[in-house]
Amino acid sequence: MLYLQLIDNFMFDHIKPNLLELVTDPSPLLLQRSSEVHRIDSEIEQLISDMFLTMTQNDGVGLAAVQVGVLKKVIVMSMTDMPNAENSVPDYFLKPCVMINASIRSYGKDFMSFNEGCLSFPNVYVHTHRPRKIIVDFLDHRGKKRRERVCGGILSICIQHEIDHTNGIVFTTKGDIK
Ligand SMILES: [Zn+2]
Repeated sequence: MLYLQLIDNFMFDHIKPNLLELVTDPSPLLLQRSSEVHRIDSEIEQLISDMFLTMTQNDGVGLAAVQVGVLKKVIVMSMTDMPNAENSVPDYFLKPCVMINASIRSYGKDFMSFNEGCLSFPNVYVHTHRPRKIIVDFLDHRGKKRRERVCGGILSICIQHEIDHTNGIVFTTKGDIK
């Protein structure tokens, strides 16, 4: 699988990913808070692989574990087509990536509007307002602590949207449904 080679050739070589069923609204699972991951073991690696396959097969750019029915703070993202002309995108996000136990450390004062969608809410789009700049803390798929500064664009929106999922918050509470 190309995306797994991209994130880590070595680590995921032995894993065969499974396509999982998406949890969709109005499942009460989507409103539950996920728990932190304390150890990145083979179960978490399998989950990460399954989530990448499920996300890409459904044409998503981000997915939180709760969206495949697992209440753990695991997020996968693949935004490799993202325009990088205006916003400086940290290198970490320029290839398929994983965020474990992610939290927003701080927000900037400026807000931006965006028309958001979500794989758990088919055909629903919400005009949201979210802070443009964020500093986010998380572990990567090897358990290494990372802190990244994101200065707007779809990446900032996507990270905030996915971290909300891990806290049981869905995007329909963040703006006006169209
Ligand atoms: Zn979503």
